[in-house]
Amino acid sequence: MGLLQDKVVLITGGESGIGRASARLFVSEGAYVHLVGLDKHELAEAVNEFGSDRAFASVTDVSDETAVIEAVREGIERFGHYNVLFSNAGISGAAAKITEYPSDVFERVLKIHVLGAFYVLKHAAPYLEDGGSVIITSSGAGLIGAPDLSAYVTAKHAQVGLMRSAAKEFAARKIRVNTLHPGPTSTPFQDDIEMRSTGMDQKNAAQAFDDTIPLGRHSTPEEIAHAALYLASDVSAMVTASTFKIDGGLTG
Ligand code: NAD
Repeated sequence: MGLLQDKVVLITGGESGIGRASARLFVSEGAYVHLVGLDKHELAEAVNEFGSDRAFASVTDVSDETAVIEAVREGIERFGHYNVLFSNAGISGAAAKITEYPSDVFERVLKIHVLGAFYVLKHAAPYLEDGGSVIITSSGAGLIGAPDLSAYVTAKHAQVGLMRSAAKEFAARKIRVNTLHPGPTSTPFQDDIEMRSTGMDQKNAAQAFDDTIPLGRHSTPEEIAHAALYLASDVSAMVTASTFKIDGGLTG
């Protein structure tokens, strides 16, 4: 018996990086996964990797409420219910001072992280079985500030507010709601942030970030996936309304 034996998990941004590594681990623990994301090719590849008996994908922009409603309809038609909602989709936005930050990018970053997580919760929670788990991938940037990343930092803090409200609202159904706070994790998403914020090439930018992390290195997507597995499964049955950090001590 796996830790998620026959549980149904919706994962946004499930086709790459942390989402894909989590989907892989969840399937190995017996789960069915509904992958919701933007990249049609990567989604198809992921379904192929996990097997169409275990995985199903919807090409969906989570910032579009109508599209989220449609994705949930597709997921329920395929699986009948959910046990875990994992809102993980995200973008970094621009690297710029607040006075120069493009307002349209600020709005887009908030829409994807905050409205996206809200739409998933609003429209999928009615199909979430009692005793289920909701996980939102925030960030170290959801706990502390950072220069030149105001939209991302604002969005990741706002997800904590959504999580805390939802944890109180859903507790009566024994549904737990937590945020995950990865530190720098080796994915193309993070490479891009690091190169833009340091102006260095990928290797030197990564080294500069490693030097700021007490444990001296980036996390791997698989290490974040194990934290997500803990929150998704019943081994964390008394954990709700928590901000769970996996960052090698960076925000400690
Ligand atoms: P990634 O780029 O590999 O994954 C992001 C995923 O989100 C992709 O699958 C992408 O298609 C999807 N996505 C983006 N916009 C979307 C939209 N509008 N609708 C649906 N899907 C959309 O990067 P990752 O590093 O795996 O990031 C996953 C999450 O982890 C993000 O929320 C990110 O903010 C967070 N995070 C990452 C790090 C890191 O160092 N990599 C650190 C802290 C937090």
